[in-house]
Amino acid sequence: MIFQATIQVDSPLALTVRRATGNDIDTLRYIPGGTIRGALAMSFLEGPGHKAEDPCFQAVFNGPNAVRFGDLRVSHAQPWPLSARICARFPDEHRAVDRLLLLAQRGEAVRECRACDSKMITAEGYVRWVRNAKGATHYSTMPVATRRTAHVQIDPQLLRAKHGQFFSSNAMEPGQALKGWISANGEAAEHFKTLVGGERELYLGRGRSRGQGRTRLQVDEIGPPDMNTAQARIEQFNREARRLYPEFQNQLLFSCTLRSHAILFDEWLLSRSWLEATDLGLKEFQLLSWFSSEAGVTGWHAAENLPRAEMHAMASGSCFLFGREATGNLEQDCRMLAKIAVELETNGIGERRAEGFGEVRCCDEFHFRQGGN
Ligand SMILES: [Zn+2]
Repeated sequence: MIFQATIQVDSPLALTVRRATGNDIDTLRYIPGGTIRGALAMSFLEGPGHKAEDPCFQAVFNGPNAVRFGDLRVSHAQPWPLSARICARFPDEHRAVDRLLLLAQRGEAVRECRACDSKMITAEGYVRWVRNAKGATHYSTMPVATRRTAHVQIDPQLLRAKHGQFFSSNAMEPGQALKGWISANGEAAEHFKTLVGGERELYLGRGRSRGQGRTRLQVDEIGPPDMNTAQARIEQFNREARRLYPEFQNQLLFSCTLRSHAILFDEWLLSRSWLEATDLGLKEFQLLSWFSSEAGVTGWHAAENLPRAEMHAMASGSCFLFGREATGNLEQDCRMLAKIAVELETNGIGERRAEGFGEVRCCDEFHFRQGGN
């Protein structure tokens, strides 16, 4: 069962990017699934007579069938794929191009914007498929509103700022709604619904004693994942790829784009920075092109009251294109791939999935809609 989760931010929300050092502290621009999971667990345990041994708590938070909390992003936007390039001068006005399909086929880089010859650069933050006032649809960057607050310590003798005692902190503005997916099966789904109720107040992040981090969580049942939609999208991905690059004519393609950071280990238990076909359950597929980068992952272990060890993950937005020889029956091939896609999109990939790591989208429209030069 898939739920849509919405968090309404009611007071400034500051989520730690890395362990606090220095006088200026930044905030994340999204809410990690692990943060909601932790806050919900704490809020349950604070209830009268509630214990971790409670069957409801165990079903939701423990074991292989526990609820999977996805990351929440402003207005359900997706991270910009790392394969995307935008115009440096007019990032919103001029067309963004995607290089995932291009790289596999031609291996060449897009250097200048078609409209103004400016340099093309990588995009940061979040993007969403929107309809403008004229009714045309296009991708547009989704800004996340933040505010910076500063405070200073005053020297009582000199009545001026004490040296080195100026602090500033960034926080997400209240009034924003962040959305994402939560998946749960069977017993866990029922307990999860009961736990959240209609709406649940949760305190997230830093500065709670100063009134920061007050949010409300709501969940709406969406239903089980839909195989036919996935199949249609994969077919469209393949048809459009063939139209853009005729060299793909005899290939069956499958792409995987990370919507959250993903933690995958190699045989030495070191973090990996790329995906292999076998990670996704793809047989006879080869990795054709990929864009990825590394992200540091940190956090706070509430039960132990200790910081978590920092680890490396594949950054959200990383994307991978796989291919193999097509059988000639595209519909049948895509039916097979749709099963894999639904499984990957529901359960994620890699480690610590219950905390939102490893959220993927297969054959994302961005790669073919923006794939042409
Ligand atoms: Zn341009």
